[in-house]
Amino acid sequence: MSDHRDDEHAREHDRPLSGPALRAKALESLLVEKGLVDPKALDELIDTYETKVGPRNGARIVARAWVDPAYRKRLLEDASAAIAEFGFIGRQGEDMVVLENTPKVRNVVVCTLCSCYPWPVLGLPPVWYKSAPYRARAVIDPRGVLKELGSEVPEDVEVRVWDSTAELRYLVLPERPAGTQGWSEDELAAIVTRDAMIGVAQVKSPGQSKR
Ligand code: FE
Repeated sequence: MSDHRDDEHAREHDRPLSGPALRAKALESLLVEKGLVDPKALDELIDTYETKVGPRNGARIVARAWVDPAYRKRLLEDASAAIAEFGFIGRQGEDMVVLENTPKVRNVVVCTLCSCYPWPVLGLPPVWYKSAPYRARAVIDPRGVLKELGSEVPEDVEVRVWDSTAELRYLVLPERPAGTQGWSEDELAAIVTRDAMIGVAQVKSPGQSKR
């Protein structure tokens, strides 16, 4: 990728609040002040896109890859095209790469510069993903970060960290948990979490306690 795009990326995100973000903030304040919008309702709306609607798209991709080897192959070879088969296309998701977890490799996604994130498949990035500590430490000490997040990685498993950019967005294909033989695609999609697709958690086996 060219220097030009990297500069653009940095410029785009390093400013404290861009024009549109400022406008959004101003609008929010005004609506709240006029009593037209309940800040709690707004938080709930954002939470919905962060944890429910958005990541459900990615979960469907993962579930399909788990049950359909031909789809899995297409997904790993050309993620953008395979994801577009579901119609999940749009801004911040034009160039996708899917990273496959294996018993020996765990992939973790970060954006060290700002908060690049695959919107069409994961929705809005969570606050911690955008935080400076995660962005810095995910690269320096990924094992430490994973451990703190309750997902310790054994010594003999390699951890690969992928730095998102304005032009490349990543989605982790987690391992299918044991005990899910014969499950339908919908049942599988229901257990795939956002954090597993960022790479900071694994998909739990059924009956295993949530972290
Ligand atoms: Fe970014």
